[in-house]
Amino acid sequence: MLLDYFFPEYAKASPMTTTDGNPPHSDDPKLPGIDMSEPTIARVYDALLGGKDNFQPDREAAVVWLELAPEAGLAAQDNRDMLIKGVQYLARTAGIDQFLDVGSGLPTVRNTHDAAQEINPNARVVYVDNDPIVLAHGRALLATNNTTTVVTADLREPQTILNNEDVRGLLDFDRPIAVMVFGLLMHFHDNERPRDWVAELMDAVPSGSYLFISDFIDTGEPIQQAIEQAGLQTLKNGWLRSEEGIRKHFLGMPLVEPGLDHPQRWFPEEPDREVPAYEELEPYQRIMYGGIARKP
Ligand code: SAM
Repeated sequence: MLLDYFFPEYAKASPMTTTDGNPPHSDDPKLPGIDMSEPTIARVYDALLGGKDNFQPDREAAVVWLELAPEAGLAAQDNRDMLIKGVQYLARTAGIDQFLDVGSGLPTVRNTHDAAQEINPNARVVYVDNDPIVLAHGRALLATNNTTTVVTADLREPQTILNNEDVRGLLDFDRPIAVMVFGLLMHFHDNERPRDWVAELMDAVPSGSYLFISDFIDTGEPIQQAIEQAGLQTLKNGWLRSEEGIRKHFLGMPLVEPGLDHPQRWFPEEPDREVPAYEELEPYQRIMYGGIARKP
């Protein structure tokens, strides 16, 4: 019932309907190894963003998020807005033409390569995600794009990313690279030491490279607790971090102005822009937090 309310366009469709309205088959060569019986982060996030690359278990999980935090979809959109602003800063102001976007998610309305290549058509972008559905949909989207690729690899094993031949084939590790760990760290508890994985990636890129992170922050707001509860209930992860807990993942590198902040207060290309006070932000605008650092 609630599923039909939140996702009316699927009310009469097969539970396993995806983008093209057809149920995917497990032996479909475009969808290798995709488990449709359990929700995945990439597909739940896609459902929250209003995308079509998700299945019924993902939409059921998204309903839990929307029940606990009705503005979860707006928070996801807020995060995407921050991603685009950051990529524009990196491509235009910082002159970066290589992007390693780890935990990239399913392609949505506007992606890293769209924003970067609008500014610099020669910019190279590698998307990395451990969910094979991202590769399946990314390949289709990028069939005619020679400067962007998608690989299946895992943040928890940085060397599998760094030694991947498609990554090495497209990116030149002797030149600065923007490493993005965007909307990803909340899926790992600090017990797993995700900072070490980020450090391993940043060790592999030269001086002048950048690190772009967003994460769930904990400033004691009820909506933040609701988001954490939704994540733990549906995906068994999605922890909040304190400001300090997020900051330490920047490895002590200097932050680009305006430092770390919420998406609606963060405009790296417009330092003089007037931004709303924290108190003026809507509750959902207080969920995401992040920024960009430059490797000296
Ligand atoms: N970066 C995009 C953004 O911020 O809009 C997507 C964020 S989405 C919430 C998190 C993505 O990280 C999902 O696509 C998920 O499959 C991917 N992911 C989760 N664990 C991962 C891992 N260990 N290695 C690589 N990707 C991972």
